[in-house]
This record gives sequence, C-alpha cells and structure tokens, in this order.
Amino acid sequence: MDSPLLGVYNPISLNIKYGEDNYLFTDKKEKYLDTYSGIAVNILGHRHPVIDQAIQTQSQKYLHLSNVFESSVQNDLAKQLINKTHMSKVFFSNSGTEANEAALKIVRKWGHSIHPNKKEIIAVNQAFHGRSSAGMALSNPRETLKEFAPLLGSINHVKFNDINHLKEQVSENTCAIFLELIYGSGGLDHLTHEFLAQVSLLAKQYHFLIVVDEIQTGLYRTGPFLATFDTPLNPDIVTLAKGIGGGLPLGATLVNEKLKNILVPGDHGSTFGGNPLACALGDAILNHMDQAFLDKVNDAIIYLNHQMKTLKHMYPLTIKQLKGKGFMRGIEVGEYAAYIQQEALKHHVLFNTVQNTTLRLLPALTFNKTHIDQMVNVLRIIIDPLEKRLS
Ligand code: PLP
Repeated sequence: MDSPLLGVYNPISLNIKYGEDNYLFTDKKEKYLDTYSGIAVNILGHRHPVIDQAIQTQSQKYLHLSNVFESSVQNDLAKQLINKTHMSKVFFSNSGTEANEAALKIVRKWGHSIHPNKKEIIAVNQAFHGRSSAGMALSNPRETLKEFAPLLGSINHVKFNDINHLKEQVSENTCAIFLELIYGSGGLDHLTHEFLAQVSLLAKQYHFLIVVDEIQTGLYRTGPFLATFDTPLNPDIVTLAKGIGGGLPLGATLVNEKLKNILVPGDHGSTFGGNPLACALGDAILNHMDQAFLDKVNDAIIYLNHQMKTLKHMYPLTIKQLKGKGFMRGIEVGEYAAYIQQEALKHHVLFNTVQNTTLRLLPALTFNKTHIDQMVNVLRIIIDPLEKRLS
C-alpha cells in the first residue's frame, strides 16, 4: 500500500503490537530483541512498571497546563537534573533539536551582550545536532544539506579531532563551540581527550562558551550521568533529550551560573515544552536510577565489553573495529552492516546501523546478561560463515 506519510523514513516491515522489557512483539506473536530502544529513548525498556505508575499518577492530575503556570513536576525534574550535572538552570523543550536550538539562541545572545561581532559558532565535522534549520547548520556539512541552502550563517566547522584546524578557526569573535563527544549518527567515533583539553584552553583564551550535546550520550548511557564527566571539559551548556522523558518527547537545555539570566520572558518558549506528563516520567525514571540500579548497569556494561572483545577476537576480518562506550557502542563491519542487520532480523534480533558500516547498540539500561548473550549468539551465527569465507 502507498504510505500516507512523507517518505523521510525507511521503516522495517514489522507490525509491532506491544513491547515488554527489552522485547517487541508483532501481530504474528513473534518476539524480537530490541538492541536500540527506540534510538536511546526507552531507557528502562518497554512498559516498565515505574513508567506505567508515573503515567497513571500524572494523568489523574493534568496532562497539559501551558507554561503560563508554574509546574511542580517541571521543577522536580529540573532540580534532579541540576543536582546530577552541577548546572544552574534548565529550559525544557520537546526534542533534542529544540534543546540545541535553545542553546544556540543562548550563546548568540550571550555573545551579543559582550560584542556585536561575537557571534561565530564552531561545530565539528561529522557531528549531528538535529534536522531543523539550526540543527542542519550545526551538523556535519554534508553535500545533501546544500539542497536546503541557505543554511544559518556564522557557523564554521572544524575537522574531526584536528587541533590545528581548531586553533585556526577560533578568534575573539567566537561565541561558542558545539560538541558531540561520541558520534551517535556519525559512526560512534569519539573526540579525543587532547582535542577536548585544547577546546577548554582555547575557550578560556578567547572567552567562548562550550556547549556539549549529550542528547545521546547522557543519562548514564556511557557510564556517568554525563559523558562530559569523563573529559577535561567544564561545559557552559549541556543539552539532553532521548530518554529524559521516559518515552515521551522532552528536551532539556541546562546552563551554568554565568548564563542563568541571559534569556528573559519573551526571548524563548514553547507551547508543549516541559509537558507535565513527560516531566513526571523523567522524574520517575531518575528516581528509579539509584545506586543499586546503576551497579547493575555497570555490571552489564562490563559483560558487554567482554563479549564484544571476544567477538572481535574471533572474527577479526569481519569486525573491523569496536567503538563507543558503555551502552552506546558501534561494531564496525564495513560492507556487511546491512546484511548482518537483515540476517539478525530473521533470528529475531533488531539492530540499528549507521553510516552503512556500523551496527549501533543503544539498548535500554535494563539490558542484562541474558539479552547480551542472545544478541552475541545471533551475531556469531551470522558472522561465523562470513569470517570463514574471508579467511
Ligand atoms: N543531537 C544528537 C547527538 C542526537 O543523537 C540527536 C538525535 O538523534 C539530536 C541531536 C536530535 O534530537 P531529536 O531527534 O530529538 O530532535
């Protein structure tokens, strides 16, 4: 049947009836292991009791009030985020793109407050920051984006991890740099410690802001609450989205003390931003992620690391490289990515791929040894004959 929807996606042909834990069930009662959790959104898996309970509780009160009212659920979630990140204030929106859009407005207004020419923004090649006009302009300047020109101006890209290029690009007119620490859509490569240390130094020298897009890396996905905590960075702005709404659309832009008064009423806003139901789910999932929960996540990550290394050791010709960190991982298999994805589907394991070369794992944080074993066994079944052919 011809789809009534604009063809911007390429959906797989499974009719999902419901999800439970880390599995999706089809209309034919088939059960599929989900290794990417709605692209890092269903952070506790499907139909988690904590989320069900939060939906019940909040839906008895109200679904939407508008930002004309102060909302206690927004405040509760904002306080938790501030506690966990040591930032000062939060702006809630509906998506990652919008979280970055707010960040962009904040850095531009801050730049203007210093000097009218302090408006240049630096982003890094291969990064992904969203698909709005600002998101496209910040993201990797791919050829195809030219079809949407003119893109938002005064945004310059530096080569990936290229310190010399970075030094050439920054000046007194730089107001901010946007960073994605591990490239979610770009193939799971990461910015090096050396590059990030230089960013920190240059930010002090040229007095510009550091914005870290933690939309995919945040919420304990790479180990700590923010991936930034494992770097030399001290960001001025952090953006979050994906799992933060427990499955509902929610974005968050967190700013430090220096920026907390930059925006004033009328500068920015959103009808739906910080929707009470989404905030209630966000608050509930963060409450649920106590030390006992995080210890389990850590054990599962250690086990996944071990299993991935074993796979790489067994199949060095098919598996070119292991990338990423924690529960944000890439298995680079070059030209075999689509084939492995298709074959895995026959074995009822759902894989996501990026860059046509890499299987991207973004499981729920509830992914455990049983799920990992199932996934790895299926990879073995598929890769074993490939490797034999190659050797
Ligand atoms: N930034 C990063 C790092 C992302 O991974 C994404 C989405 O994949 C975005 C921004 C855009 O987020 P959204 O699709 O919620 O607008």
